[in-house]
Amino acid sequence: MSASLRFKVVDEAFRHAPLKTVLPKERPSDYFGKYVFNKQKMFKYLPAPIYAKMCDVIDNGAPLDRDVADAVAEGMKKWAMELGVTHYTHWFQPLTEGTAEKHDGFVEHDWKGGMVEEPDASSFPSGGIRSTFEARGYSAWDPTSPVFVLGDTLMIPTIFISYTGEALDYKFPLKKALYAVDKAATAVCQYFNPDVKKVVSNLGWEQEYFLVDESLYSARPDLVMTGRTLMGHDSAKNQQMDDHYFGSIPERVEEFMKDIEIQALELGIPCKTRHNEVAPNQFELAPIFEETNLAVDHNMLMMSLMKRVARKHGFRCLLHEKPFKGINGSGKHNNWSLSTDTGILLHAPGKTPEDNLRFVTFVVETLKGVYDHNGLLKASIISATNAHRLGANEAPPAIISSFLGKSVTALLEHVENADDDALSMDGKQAFKLDLPSIPEIFIDNTDRNRTSPFAFTGNRFEFRAVGSEANCASAMLTLNTAVAEALTDFKTRVDALIAAGEDKHAAILKTVREDIKYIKPIIFNGNGYGDEWKIEAEKRGLDCETSAPLIFDNYLKPSSVRMFEKMGVMSEHELEARNEIKWETYTKKIQIESRIFGDLCLNHIIPVVTKYQSMLIDNVSKVLAIFPKEKAEAISKENLTIIEKISKHESFIIENVDKMVEARKVANHLESEREKAIAYHDTVAPLLEQIRYHVDKLECIVDDEAWPLPKYRELLFIR
Ligand code: ADP
Ligand code: MG
Repeated sequence: MSASLRFKVVDEAFRHAPLKTVLPKERPSDYFGKYVFNKQKMFKYLPAPIYAKMCDVIDNGAPLDRDVADAVAEGMKKWAMELGVTHYTHWFQPLTEGTAEKHDGFVEHDWKGGMVEEPDASSFPSGGIRSTFEARGYSAWDPTSPVFVLGDTLMIPTIFISYTGEALDYKFPLKKALYAVDKAATAVCQYFNPDVKKVVSNLGWEQEYFLVDESLYSARPDLVMTGRTLMGHDSAKNQQMDDHYFGSIPERVEEFMKDIEIQALELGIPCKTRHNEVAPNQFELAPIFEETNLAVDHNMLMMSLMKRVARKHGFRCLLHEKPFKGINGSGKHNNWSLSTDTGILLHAPGKTPEDNLRFVTFVVETLKGVYDHNGLLKASIISATNAHRLGANEAPPAIISSFLGKSVTALLEHVENADDDALSMDGKQAFKLDLPSIPEIFIDNTDRNRTSPFAFTGNRFEFRAVGSEANCASAMLTLNTAVAEALTDFKTRVDALIAAGEDKHAAILKTVREDIKYIKPIIFNGNGYGDEWKIEAEKRGLDCETSAPLIFDNYLKPSSVRMFEKMGVMSEHELEARNEIKWETYTKKIQIESRIFGDLCLNHIIPVVTKYQSMLIDNVSKVLAIFPKEKAEAISKENLTIIEKISKHESFIIENVDKMVEARKVANHLESEREKAIAYHDTVAPLLEQIRYHVDKLECIVDDEAWPLPKYRELLFIR
């Protein structure tokens, strides 16, 4: 790598012209879901009785019989063939981020809809549930996830389980968590609305990302290999850029956005691109909320789509949570709520006092789940990459708390403190619950706390700590299970009071009031970025751990194991196996970063720096040769200072890259995955950051003409 390459790619980047997106002739409502085997297609391609059975499978979780599956597969095949499809693949959500596919030609397909295929799953980390040589995992189409076509391939969303029935993916436990929360919430709902038969968990994600020109990207080995810049000094605030370069900026991005929006709509993802640029070259994309399992699929699909479409437009899409140091990172807010099959949004305040008692119940029991499992919820969103974002001064801190806003806080206080009489039931008379009515839109946009990791936003909670690169399923399966547990426990206590002769509403009220007192430590309406909050949170007993490998321990706490087992979501053995993968993945990420970084330091940075330094030394000695000593020293004063500074930085880098290699060796020899991950966190990662400081200083010292890697101002402002 040399500076000449840097200038070449910068030049290329400036020359990249926008790629016009051809707008479809039809209207969006006509091409929405064009490549999805949705109910409309089923209606068209399946015999009427089969269609009816499939609706029962999708809507009510009825089992998918073999003969129905065969008929569905037949119709699916016909539809796919008409679209020119030649291959099919089972589409998995493995425990490493992203999706995995196993492609097969159509000739081999038995057209049973992928019901009980046996893919060779040996490349998926399975954390000891099965060893690779005897490995036989089962995959099964998830009929609640519609099949879709991507290019010439029919994609079959699939759950992935081991021979012994243990989950090897995110989809299987997510579905179980959604089942658990449906059961628990429906039971509680029936206190208020006996006609409710089903409760659905909703998810609306907001995906943040960066776009970087592909030429510049290709000249940054760190971006290519790790998804983030391991070195690079902040670009100056008011970067002086040539105006004509800016001319083509918005257009290229604009065309990308149009393209992605059309393709997303064709795949049935109800998305809207957005231009909110918190950081330069940072954007956001959000669909309308959907049922959680479908929303998770759509997010996974969207992330791979974004990467592909970005390439088409000469960009690379960065999904890493913190691609640039000192620049706003990327998150994926998970807007979450529960709603009923009768159309009630359970996290929205209602019109009658009874509606509002239901609202309070669901808000409070959600918070109880979040409070009881705040450490676990943090574990569900932490990763080697998201750790760079959390706790930085722009993202939620590494402490889970909830912001409720003025109105809801006041409402809970009222329920807690109003005297029993005002809240009591009045014999056989009408329900006389004295709850203040809440205006429909009671949260105005100023009553928002951007620093809260789990904020109430009017008719939903927004779990903001989720990372941009993550599979939302991790956070969603944990949150829904925690809420299912709280609601189940709530129902048990209310039922006990009713059995003891208490009136139903009085029993609910009594239990809710108990819980309002109990959940106080999780509510925090103040500034989550402040240091005072860390002290306060510690006092409240909230999980304040910041080390990702230690945060993962939360999965194996007795309270977590009990919750997952009791709710039928995961067994202790599964949790243990999955944690092995979490630790291993953590270690691998830091290990790769550290290797690439060491290589960049020694082979890209130091040679350039040494060359520049020799040039300065050369200059000083020439000055000494022609001027008297004193004068020469005066002339060379600044150069001498720079030479000295460079030496200091240089020797720090060389010495510590060595140390980092040693630290890796020590860590690699440790016994368990957990110990390894802890060692990588405690010894390797901090060295990388320390060394980086010196590299970034050198970037400011060394002649710009000589610097080999595209700089932040180039990566962030050229588009
Ligand atoms: P923001 O102001 O945070 O950008 P938006 O109103 O644009 O929020 O919504 C962000 C996401 O939240 C969208 O996907 C939207 O569909 C989703 N959303 C809105 N209401 C709900 C709800 N009740 N439950 C779940 N998601 C919701
Ligand atoms: Mg939001």
